[in-house]
Amino acid sequence: MSTDLTTLDVAEMSRRLTAGEVSAAEVTRAHLDRIAAEDGALGAYLHVDADAALAAATAVDESRAAGAELGPLAGVPVALKDLVVTEGVPTTSGSKILEGWRPPYSATIATRLAEAGTVLLGKTNMDEFAMGSSTENSAYGVSRNPWDHDRIPGGSSGGSSSAVAGHLAPWAIGTDTGGSIRQPAAVTGLVGHKPTYGSVSRYGLIAFSSSLDQAGPMARTVLDAALMHEVIGGHDPRDSTSIDSPLFGLADAARAGAAGDLSGVRVGVVRELGGDGHTDGYDPGVLARTREAVELLASLGAEVTEVSCPSFDLALAAYYLIAPSEASSNLARYEGVRFGLRAGDDGSRDLDDVMALTREQGFGPEVKRRIILGTYALSSGYYEAYYGQAQKVRSLIAGEFAAAFAGVDVLVSPTSPTVAWPLGARVEDPISMYAADLCTLPASLAGLPAISVPSGLSEGLPVGLQVMAPALADDRCYRVAAALEAAQDAARGHRLLDELPAAGSAA
Ligand code: GLN
Repeated sequence: MSTDLTTLDVAEMSRRLTAGEVSAAEVTRAHLDRIAAEDGALGAYLHVDADAALAAATAVDESRAAGAELGPLAGVPVALKDLVVTEGVPTTSGSKILEGWRPPYSATIATRLAEAGTVLLGKTNMDEFAMGSSTENSAYGVSRNPWDHDRIPGGSSGGSSSAVAGHLAPWAIGTDTGGSIRQPAAVTGLVGHKPTYGSVSRYGLIAFSSSLDQAGPMARTVLDAALMHEVIGGHDPRDSTSIDSPLFGLADAARAGAAGDLSGVRVGVVRELGGDGHTDGYDPGVLARTREAVELLASLGAEVTEVSCPSFDLALAAYYLIAPSEASSNLARYEGVRFGLRAGDDGSRDLDDVMALTREQGFGPEVKRRIILGTYALSSGYYEAYYGQAQKVRSLIAGEFAAAFAGVDVLVSPTSPTVAWPLGARVEDPISMYAADLCTLPASLAGLPAISVPSGLSEGLPVGLQVMAPALADDRCYRVAAALEAAQDAARGHRLLDELPAAGSAA
């Protein structure tokens, strides 16, 4: 009976908790039971502290019983990607080099979620340092897609997508540098939003590529994603790139969108992302679901046009220079002295050799590849040809977005060119792994908000539609996504995730 609670969306869970129909301890226990039963197969979590979660939930129940004014999310469980720094709780970023590290402080977003009364279930698996699209680059084993356990759950936030789609958490934090919230959401049938760069604090996120990294919500509904975004978003003086600007009503935008009227909303379909002449590498099923989603938006009143952004073809090349360059600098701090692993410090080696051995043993192959690529791209004599050129492409892409948004309110595309692929299929071929980011990279490079919302199934596997908006117009993403979600749910008579074989079966 209590495991029914794992199938509730957060909006309904919050209503029941606030009304006293269910206790936080019951909700948390239901999730912990399901994690105990199913995470062995899914591999979504790297760390779960059941006692701490139950203690936090019980504290919420006690305050509520004592008459304290609690926020609407008090008692709702949450999972955090394991690069969100949590005081006293292991935080590895999916890497051996941070094994055993218990941070002395918490990320701003973790603190904000705790202050809202949410209960930390655990930390989720991820590609090492968030480099990857499948979660197979984790140093701690793979996570699996709840729709088909032999397939990837996307990445790098694949532990979060696996947990939320598998009902081992009602929602989770992901982070997105080049697509790591949106792509795992798309391939597991979830909603995932990358907020406007600078609108959610990066304080306490383990850095990959600082000019691109952004944390955001992964949830089972558009409204839930907006509710989480409202908790974590907003100015933070501890993040030097934090924007000091008020948040728009994101949950209100989701509710407005769900009402189903998009009249006057101008939607641009990006030709370079799966349109005519640009279909190489895209599954036909993904393109079909995208066309149908766009038709549905038009039937709700949206004015649809095609938009061309030629520089988007260069996004992949630019991203795979800029992100490794920044990573090579950010990852220099793992030298075996300040955090985690220290290898070979037995008195027989000097400091340089200990550092080299620590990095040799502590980093996995993809991380080493990125450090080498990035160091090369930044090196004297090559800097202009690689890093400098990539930054110019980044400006071109931002300019084409600006031109497009002069004529439309949002841009749409598939989120991922393909559905979830079989585990192992791309491990030996980094370029094919990078190609998973084709559609998500342009908005990342321009710092723009973008959401992925389910748009149906292809070959029995979820497909996502990406909705991109101008900076700080995240509310438009939520509005359009909620309209699509509501129309599709109404047309099929149930939610997409209800078709997931395991959903609710543990009840
Ligand atoms: N797949 C991309 C990469 O490997 C994006 C990762 C991310 O957004 N963290 O870099």
